[in-house]
Amino acid sequence: MKLGIVGLPNVGKSTLFNSLTKAGAESANYPFCTIDPNVGVVTVPDKRLDVLGEMYHTKKIIPAAIEFVDIAGLVKGASKGEGLGNQFLANIREVDAIVHVVRCFEDSNIVHVDGSIDPLRDIETINLELIFSDLEILERRIAKTVKLSRNDKAAAKELELLNRIKAHLEENKMAKTFETDDEEEREWMAGYNLLTAKPVIFAANVAEDDLADDGANNTKVAAVREYAKREQCEVFVICAQIEQEIAELEDEEKKMFLEDLGLEESGLEKLIKASYHLLGLISYLTAGEPEVRAWTITKGTKAPQAAGKIHSDFERGFIRAEVVSYADLMACKTYAAAREKGLVRLEGKDYVVQDGDIMLFRFNV
Ligand code: GDP
Repeated sequence: MKLGIVGLPNVGKSTLFNSLTKAGAESANYPFCTIDPNVGVVTVPDKRLDVLGEMYHTKKIIPAAIEFVDIAGLVKGASKGEGLGNQFLANIREVDAIVHVVRCFEDSNIVHVDGSIDPLRDIETINLELIFSDLEILERRIAKTVKLSRNDKAAAKELELLNRIKAHLEENKMAKTFETDDEEEREWMAGYNLLTAKPVIFAANVAEDDLADDGANNTKVAAVREYAKREQCEVFVICAQIEQEIAELEDEEKKMFLEDLGLEESGLEKLIKASYHLLGLISYLTAGEPEVRAWTITKGTKAPQAAGKIHSDFERGFIRAEVVSYADLMACKTYAAAREKGLVRLEGKDYVVQDGDIMLFRFNV
């Protein structure tokens, strides 16, 4: 799963990305991850793993991870191929969701490309580039479909859909807010992989003073929140500069530093968790003496496919799964006690795995 960090120059993207990668994971544990300086692997904070680690007397804890891609250089005119614009847009097309950093902090030493601090204007600037790029895709698709539509009913229906989405975007609206109840239309639309259809989290980058009350007194943050609500996006208040400092601290120091700021967890941790949820991801857990580990699945995944995340043999030879929920295990304190109480269930191939399920798979080789 990949998230792309976008935003105008000088809003704090690299600062945020650096703190993410500093806090980042040992990529050896995550073979799916790309080796690229613009990609950072970040572990998903999950306190349950530490608790299980103690219970099973293991030091080896492997959290879930997601990738963040620093997509710098998205500027006004990118969709017209200015600068390396098109290349950046292509990078965005490959991510599952977007973290859009907007500047809400004042600092006269750091110039803003458009001269003043106005997050809504910044959002509009970036969104327009994304919309232009999507329009180009739609137009190409329309040109192809027009010919087919003359003697193909499905193509005619698709052409009509394409024109409707196009009209929506031409009103400067994101594809995300385009609505259709038609299953076939939804599938077509997913196939276009439109940039403006991707989930968005706004990271409102504020000054340190605005952290304690989560930006409540910052009118610029309020404007972003209002906008995000309308556009069905989430907002997180962060201070990239502080995050960078926090990322360099050891765990104990970090806790004290956060307490001083009046915070329970860093903005980064909140952002990472929110991204995970936004993507519809959950974790099931495996626990034993050798290691305690979180495995990422999308909500609704059934037991054999979940097992396949560990090894394809587990999926192919799946017989059943032994499952106890994290909450039940905690309530009983030991696996044996949970089993005695009948809380360790045997589940078959149709079982839909839940977040926090502790799983043991039985399979044929
Ligand atoms: P990018 O161009 O969006 O990647 O922006 P950078 O991360 O390079 O940040 C631009 C400048 O703003 C750098 O000098 C950062 O140190 C500074 N900066 C980033 N975040 C903050 C912040 O939260 N507060 C303040 N005052 N400065 C920041």
